[in-house]
Amino acid sequence: MQQYNSRDEIPAKYKWDLSVIYADDAAFSADFDKAEKMIAAFPAHEKTMSSCADALLSMLKDYCAIDLLINRLYEYAARSFDVDTSVNANQARVGKVMDLANRAGSASYFVTPSLLRLDGNTLEKWYAECPELAAYRRLIDKEMRFKPYTLSDECEKVMADMGQCLGTASDVRDIISDSDIRFGKIKDETGKSVELTDTNYVPFMMNKDRRVRRAAFNTLYKTYNQFGNTYATLMNGFVKERVTDAKIRHFENSLTASVFHDEVTPSIYNNLIDTVSNNLDALFEYYDIKKEVLGVSSLHMYDIYPPLLGDLDREYSIEEGIRETLDMAKIYGDEYHDTLEGGLTKKGWLDVFPNRGKRGGAYSSGCYGMEPYILLNFKGTFDDVFTLAHECGHSMHSYFSRTYNKPHESDYTIFVAEVASTVNELLLANKKLRESQSDDEKLYVLNQLMDTYKGTLFRQTMFAEFEKEMHALVEKGEILTADLLNKTYYGLVKKYFGPRVVCDEPIAREWMRIPHFYYNFYVYKYSTCISVAATVVKKMETEGPAYVKKYIEFLKCGGSKSPLDSLKVADIDLTKPEVIEDAIESFRSAVRQFKELYAQKTNKN
Ligand SMILES: [Zn+2]
Repeated sequence: MQQYNSRDEIPAKYKWDLSVIYADDAAFSADFDKAEKMIAAFPAHEKTMSSCADALLSMLKDYCAIDLLINRLYEYAARSFDVDTSVNANQARVGKVMDLANRAGSASYFVTPSLLRLDGNTLEKWYAECPELAAYRRLIDKEMRFKPYTLSDECEKVMADMGQCLGTASDVRDIISDSDIRFGKIKDETGKSVELTDTNYVPFMMNKDRRVRRAAFNTLYKTYNQFGNTYATLMNGFVKERVTDAKIRHFENSLTASVFHDEVTPSIYNNLIDTVSNNLDALFEYYDIKKEVLGVSSLHMYDIYPPLLGDLDREYSIEEGIRETLDMAKIYGDEYHDTLEGGLTKKGWLDVFPNRGKRGGAYSSGCYGMEPYILLNFKGTFDDVFTLAHECGHSMHSYFSRTYNKPHESDYTIFVAEVASTVNELLLANKKLRESQSDDEKLYVLNQLMDTYKGTLFRQTMFAEFEKEMHALVEKGEILTADLLNKTYYGLVKKYFGPRVVCDEPIAREWMRIPHFYYNFYVYKYSTCISVAATVVKKMETEGPAYVKKYIEFLKCGGSKSPLDSLKVADIDLTKPEVIEDAIESFRSAVRQFKELYAQKTNKN
């Protein structure tokens, strides 16, 4: 594969042309000035917005117009920065737009409290007399949902001021783990002594040499053990904060308060945990395979991460990657396929290759009124092709959301954000399993599928269950001590790894190194998204075009409906076990196929 160093060497067809957003600095500045003027004038709405339908409409129009302008400015600034972070002007532009967004936030602080003071009957009357205002109903409804949980103006001000002093627990945790703690040194596979850090711990856990993995595991947790009381105090502080906030706002508990923001209910959270808990035998079988392939007499906690298979030696060009992705996308019908084809081959959605100064990883971005932008660091591996398909899923979800909705309803919610991307990955995997002539490639795909389900469905559900238990303990008046957290976490490790894996005692401290426990009930969304994706793929492949049509309708919902209402469009009900069970079945099938194929292959050799 051709390697590029400087961005200038890369042919234009592989790079974004951001001049279609703003032709030059003058065009950027013109929009920036326009946004500044609108922000300066915006506070005048405070006095008038609640007086009549027209005044409310006028405020909402300005509010959304400012938002749109800032998004466009941000897209231009952030995309330019990401492809070359070494250019100071790019960095400065991002800073300028962030500052503008902060100013917009301050200038519109009154919008939510003023909306919440309006009563439902008045709003209904206004919607009836002003259809243009009715077009903002969903946006207003989303604010009004919080009315029963909102305090007096004075209390809200106190909460906001106090809020600035809270929230340090997670910062402190990160600082300790990332920079303050010295974990000590271990010997790597060549016998060289290296400093162990929280960052290189994961690569060490994937090392082929078991001695290295064991050393990393024991050294890391020995150090964490010395700081158990500190980590427990931080965790206790964080959970107490969330529990107290929920109580002050009259939510039933902190879990209910958190999922309320996602517009879902605790029943979805609990259904996920219950259904996964009832099917853990599938996961135990996966660990049996790990044990067999690694050839160890017993599988320890430090044997979970080394890859079962080597890399595939086949290299893909970006053109082949695009062809594979478009081929997979044929199942969606013409609009999806043709739009994607246009985006990838003519409209410049992709920024393909790594270059000096380019941000790592991959993502899909863009905003209303422009094409989606996909950043890649394509090196030609098999995984890179899957990453491309994944990001195309995001971009096509954005395309449908933006094309079929009003600007202020064009963003889908975070709760469904990983559905379309994961559906693409699963479709591509199934296609490869059907069509590939190579056993090695099939095994590779199956292994990837197994790892995805293990990491995204099972592990995140275990984390979700731990979070739920921690919060429930604090709600019962318990203090989260290191002993209590270790005991609770270890109990879950035993549950999720099963009777045939050796749950080495230091793993009880793993909760200390997971930053996600400070995200306030976030990780369950990874598990629900992959479950929805598994169901969608199953229905697409069994029910055919009639279901595909429903799925496309779901993509078109954007932010016009709540996530659960938009999922209903695709016949998906996350309160029932079936959706989670579909994902588990898909995992079981990958495990089964891997086992068979692996046995065939080893018998042959
Ligand atoms: Zn994604």
